[in-house]
Amino acid sequence: MQTTTFAELGLSAKVLAAIEAAGYAAPTPIQAQAIPVAVTGRDVLGIAQTGTGKTASFVLPMITRLESGRARARMPRSLILAPTRELAAQCAQSFEKYGVNHKLDVALLIGGVSMDDQVRKLDRGVDVLIATPGRLLDHFQRGRIMLMGVEILVIDEADRMLDMGFIPDIEKICKLLPPRRQTLFFSATMPPEITRLVDQFLKDPARIEVARPATTAKTITQRFFYCDSTEDWAKREALRELLRTLDVRNAIIFCNRKKDVAILLKSLTKHGFNAGALHGDMDQMSRMATLDKFRSGEIALLAASDVAARGLDIPDVSHVINYDVPWQPDDYVHRIGRTGRAGREGFSATIVSPDDIKATDAIAKLIGEEPQWIGEAPDEAALAEGRSRRRRGRGGPSRGRSEPRVPARGGREPRRESGREPTRREATRRMAPVDRPELAPQPEFVDSAPEAGRRPVRRRETAPAGEALQADGRAHQQRRHERADRPSRAREEKRDRGGNEATPRAFGDHMPAFLRRPVRVSAD
Ligand code: AMP
Repeated sequence: MQTTTFAELGLSAKVLAAIEAAGYAAPTPIQAQAIPVAVTGRDVLGIAQTGTGKTASFVLPMITRLESGRARARMPRSLILAPTRELAAQCAQSFEKYGVNHKLDVALLIGGVSMDDQVRKLDRGVDVLIATPGRLLDHFQRGRIMLMGVEILVIDEADRMLDMGFIPDIEKICKLLPPRRQTLFFSATMPPEITRLVDQFLKDPARIEVARPATTAKTITQRFFYCDSTEDWAKREALRELLRTLDVRNAIIFCNRKKDVAILLKSLTKHGFNAGALHGDMDQMSRMATLDKFRSGEIALLAASDVAARGLDIPDVSHVINYDVPWQPDDYVHRIGRTGRAGREGFSATIVSPDDIKATDAIAKLIGEEPQWIGEAPDEAALAEGRSRRRRGRGGPSRGRSEPRVPARGGREPRRESGREPTRREATRRMAPVDRPELAPQPEFVDSAPEAGRRPVRRRETAPAGEALQADGRAHQQRRHERADRPSRAREEKRDRGGNEATPRAFGDHMPAFLRRPVRVSAD
């Protein structure tokens, strides 16, 4: 089969040169289908997710079309509406990348950052205005922009706009634009409200649908990791085990609740990992600063909530880890779409507790695959028990916190359910052997803060390999079980909860160097 080349898509020579400079060998499916239509001026309805190359599928034809004509004061020639500040900022970066050979004026209207420069640009006249809907209307109502010069409108991630309650704003904006314009409309899904919007504001669009990354992205290895406890500390431990075992270069770690993002960041930092966080309560400056550090590699792990991470374009994430199984299976697809982008290899790992069996079933149904487990899968009894649990909806009690087993503050925290022997699964659960023995599962260090008469002990010097893994796994689990009875666990968890014992844990060679951060422990 012959593959399409960028040269066949009707793009201008200057745009083709920029694509070559970006190092793209061939268009992605959405680009191959949308670009030839969009360059002719026809409307496009693109049903595609982030990670498919959709941004270039509208930015490249836009630049080509904007080559002729010029901007007039306060009258942008094209308008891109994006649901989040980050997505809007990333669109702006795409214009820098693909427009290197052009002199396009681009303005960005987003909340949270000073807009004086952008307003000055608008006053002079811009080719492209990228905005979040609320901010655009705000400026329009103050008389700072006129929208009757808009020749091309792009609506990106329309279903996210719907989630975020922006549809009335979108309708208002569409009514302010000239009817003779081109509209390029993108959405990952097509719920009825979005179909209605398309019917109302697009004219005879070419409908281009590319398969969801979850069903097509063979480049993403999806794995699930069963944590047989619903306790938060057990999940944090499972996460650390994953991080130490997988070949993680950088990872986004998703939580369902923003408050858990903060807790997780504190925990990861205190365990010596090089982490940052992104959650909805952060102001724009700190979000951008964290993102920049993550992009540059200064931060290797990013704990994030769905809303905060929406629309992020981080090209090179080696791993996505779901610390929580998302409540909505669609969110799973969005989350894992952050890795394995545009043909690169990616890996996602999802931590599943007994409370998450139903949500995991829903994900399996959506992706059309049975979960593949790292280590042992939950057995039939655990699955049946999990399926019979009452679902905890959004805003419901958080996992583990309603469980009677949670010890009183400062009390002893049981390692496993009180008083029983570890099950076979507990005794043998372990990670699949990995290529890098130095990252193979290792027993955790006991606290570096020595208890009276006890020195910090590292339990094993070298990682086991091959068959020894199995036998060692049982011993490892047994040791973990024994450690449950030590008061040190309570102290560790107190630190995790934000207690003031800020002694960093001693780590040895079992934490990859790139995940380490210089020891600076402050609860921020
Ligand atoms: P998007 O779906 O627009 O968020 O794009 C996902 C990532 O794919 C971005 O980092 C782009 O830089 C990259 N990308 C877009 N088009 C191509 C292509 N044709 N070849 C390789 N990478 C691409």
